Amino acid sequence: MVVLYDDLESLSHHQYPDYEDHHMKMLEFDPEYHMGSAEIVFSLVYFLLGLCLVAPPTEFIHAGLTVQNVLASYLGSEEMNFINYHIKRSTATALFHSIIPIGYYVGMALFAPHLHLFEWSRMTLMWQLYLGFSILLPISVIALTYHWSGNQWANHPIAKTLKYHTTSNSSWQPVSSSINIEFRRITKFTAGPPGRRVIVTDSWVMLTSTYNVYIAQQQDIHLTLVASEEHSVTPEEGTAGAQILNINVATVRNNVKSFVIRLNALEYSDLREKLSAPIRNARNIVIHQSLSERFLVAFQEQVDNNPTVRKTSSLEVEQCIGCMAILADVKLQKRCHNADDGDCRQCYCRPMWCLSCMGKWFAHRQEQGQPETWLSGKAPCPTCRSTFCMLDVCRIV
Ligand SMILES: [Zn+2]
Ligand SMILES: [Zn+2]
Ligand SMILES: [Zn+2]
Repeated sequence: MVVLYDDLESLSHHQYPDYEDHHMKMLEFDPEYHMGSAEIVFSLVYFLLGLCLVAPPTEFIHAGLTVQNVLASYLGSEEMNFINYHIKRSTATALFHSIIPIGYYVGMALFAPHLHLFEWSRMTLMWQLYLGFSILLPISVIALTYHWSGNQWANHPIAKTLKYHTTSNSSWQPVSSSINIEFRRITKFTAGPPGRRVIVTDSWVMLTSTYNVYIAQQQDIHLTLVASEEHSVTPEEGTAGAQILNINVATVRNNVKSFVIRLNALEYSDLREKLSAPIRNARNIVIHQSLSERFLVAFQEQVDNNPTVRKTSSLEVEQCIGCMAILADVKLQKRCHNADDGDCRQCYCRPMWCLSCMGKWFAHRQEQGQPETWLSGKAPCPTCRSTFCMLDVCRIV
């Protein structure tokens, strides 16, 4: 607090060199004078500082000035032990936030001696009440922490949520380790700022918040797209026209709270891929797709209008080498011109790609700044490099 006070003092001297003189004059004129410009400046600076600590702006996060980073060695690795990390993180955050009001009081006492904040009998009733509150707050949070930490943190809200996911109220530890294991997999979906991160693993949907982590099991949830907000600029990417979707995660499990996850519309299809349940769009909210997603739709429509290739015993079909998820289902067959005309060449490769991977490949090979030319563009076959256009992509049926 002393450091903080010194900083603030030098700051105010720097900005208001004649503040002290001015202040003394005002005191002479008005002995009952309470709130001067110095206190207002201190209050504003402290308020802003407090706000940055409670809800760190992107600049603070990038500079590493968050509770998580300062306490990194105590918290351990989120990657290795997700649940334990967040139990400690949320507790430490609550403790840290609880001392912000008393910090203000001490700072003000040092900064404005004429308020006599270190003498109980001479301070105003308002300051007495404030002091009482700012001492009670950390004491209650310490008591709460003590309660939470009992029985190996079994009383912490996160551990309690996990307990509700066990059968017949058994220990929360096995659920915790199953989440930790899934969190370590690189296939998990994550989105959003560090303070409110959406995490979807194979069987869990989670949302981190300042003092808690909302947790629901995929098999228990109903997802509903409830709202969409248009933002002209997002701080994260600086791109214009971001659409933020709000998705309500309601769980059928008793005692487990529902929550709302927020994410950029561009991440929506990745989220949907990771979820086993569908997302209901009861209000028919129009989701803005990214350029490549819209292109993929147009690409598929064109291919659906092209002639198809029959699957024969000589035509071997293997797993798509792009996504390894589905069977290859397209073949490049020159159809746009006669065999020797035009830029396209006949490709003799066996089918190795699925339609959506081929579409992504095609989009990648186009002039990125000119999407209007993509539909009439050409790309080389991923394997033999023969040029093809969209008319040459044939579905295998
Ligand atoms: Zn594929
Ligand atoms: Zn080829
Ligand atoms: Zn062609």
